[in-house]
Amino acid sequence: MIKSNSTLRNLIVGLHARLPLINGQYVTSINLDNAATTPPFHAVLRDIEEFSLWYASIHRGAGYKSILSSNIYEDSRDVVKQFVNADVVRDVVIYTKNTTEAINLLSHVLAQDDNDGVIISTEMEHLANDLPWRDKFKVEYVRVDQCGKLDVEDLEIKLRKHCGNVKLVTVTGASNVTGYKNPIDHIATLTHKCGAKILVDGAQLVPHCPVDMKDHDSPEHIDYLVFSAHKMYAPFGIGVLIGPKETFEERTPMCKGGGAVKLVSRQFVEWESPPYKDEAGTPNAVGVVALLAAIRTLKQIGMDVIRDYEKYLIDYAIKGLRCIPDIQIYSCAKGYEDKIGIIAFDLPGIYHEVLARILSCEAGIAVRSGLFCAHPYVEKLLNLTEEGLWYYQKNPDAPLPGLVRISLGLYNNYEEIDILIDLLSRIAKNKNSYNQKYNRLLLDEARLDNPLLYPPRKKLP
Ligand code: PMP
Repeated sequence: MIKSNSTLRNLIVGLHARLPLINGQYVTSINLDNAATTPPFHAVLRDIEEFSLWYASIHRGAGYKSILSSNIYEDSRDVVKQFVNADVVRDVVIYTKNTTEAINLLSHVLAQDDNDGVIISTEMEHLANDLPWRDKFKVEYVRVDQCGKLDVEDLEIKLRKHCGNVKLVTVTGASNVTGYKNPIDHIATLTHKCGAKILVDGAQLVPHCPVDMKDHDSPEHIDYLVFSAHKMYAPFGIGVLIGPKETFEERTPMCKGGGAVKLVSRQFVEWESPPYKDEAGTPNAVGVVALLAAIRTLKQIGMDVIRDYEKYLIDYAIKGLRCIPDIQIYSCAKGYEDKIGIIAFDLPGIYHEVLARILSCEAGIAVRSGLFCAHPYVEKLLNLTEEGLWYYQKNPDAPLPGLVRISLGLYNNYEEIDILIDLLSRIAKNKNSYNQKYNRLLLDEARLDNPLLYPPRKKLP
């Protein structure tokens, strides 16, 4: 078990990067935007470099390197399965480029069934787990309560209403806006009672907590799981879709081409078996090597250690934020419930995008602001009405509503949170002067060449 935070920090690339501030000084960067993507582990880069010596075409060559590369690529599937306790025989690991592509692929495959069942999704999903279902199925959205937490009773009502006709229950493992974790074991049990299957969007769960897909015969079994390597310290273009092999057997793939077929004539196409039929084109072996290194490193640290450490840190951040007058946190009154290291908040009187830029320009802190690709969820948290949203559609120049989000990784520490809280307190006390300084700066077209706000494309500072 790795105990001290400096040991964890040493695993990560780029933490010592010095960034310019608006006052001309340089500081060590603070990345609080890990829900978007994470920096790589050193181990990931090392493994990629080593593998590069042996890299050659996957599944397409008779050369020694090609066979070796193909073996590494194929053997990786079992490592991924073990990481989340998928069934080595009955499940299949399909590599995609990210979570978004994985969900699009599954929706394409499931849409080929004759029976058109209902998809039960939720109001708290990322757009990746909403839009792919909308154009193919009737979708019912499980409500969230005032705090944005999933209303499990509403799920039960919807399951009862559509029982026998539910194609899939699709739910995020953890929200990328509020950080709430959903009770996926319980949701799986309810889903299976109804004879349906469950997909868990693990993009924000798999990098931060132990995930167990459980035995196929267990009521708590997770039928489908998706996640992205770039959110787990391996940003080299790999996503994962895990599900029962039989799902993919009789259906045509979303992406068609070489590698996905056994034999093609002018008259017929004979598809390969899964997972190959759903991985047309040259596979991303380097991305897979990166994912393997990330999984190895995460396991060495311990997913439960990561979960607990990040929980301490986020509770510490919530405590600090609560002491700042005016800051509004989009979380339950208590705010310390079962959640991953994410908080969305705003500071009334300072536009979210401006606040995010201030954090960057004054302290080198990277956060994200806006609607976080979860528009309907954030709109609900902000109590925006449908008419209110039409206004923004009709007025494309109107600044969009949104929030500021901090999201933690396993390498963040208490000092970084202190710097954030200290700066936010100062901003909250001096809103007018910060607004004057930054609104002018951000709106001033002449400042588009300001390297602080718009860093140079090629030359890094
Ligand atoms: N689901 C959730 C909960 C996410 O947070 C994200 C990424 N922000 C996605 C899906 C999409 O992931 P990707 O961009 O890797 O496709």
